[in-house]
Amino acid sequence: MSDRTIVILKDLPVEQCEACSEYLIEDAVLTKVEALLAGVDASAELEIIPFAA
Ligand SMILES: [Zn+2]
Repeated sequence: MSDRTIVILKDLPVEQCEACSEYLIEDAVLTKVEALLAGVDASAELEIIPFAA
């Protein structure tokens, strides 16, 4: 993936911390995100990937 590639993950399951309002992503979700990003076409400027849980 090049620096110019913009990746949008649709329907990414994120949770918001009740204490500090920070967004949290579970490890399992993060692992899948990394796998999805690894498969992104490097020549594309924009990739929209639907996140299917
Ligand atoms: Zn917190």
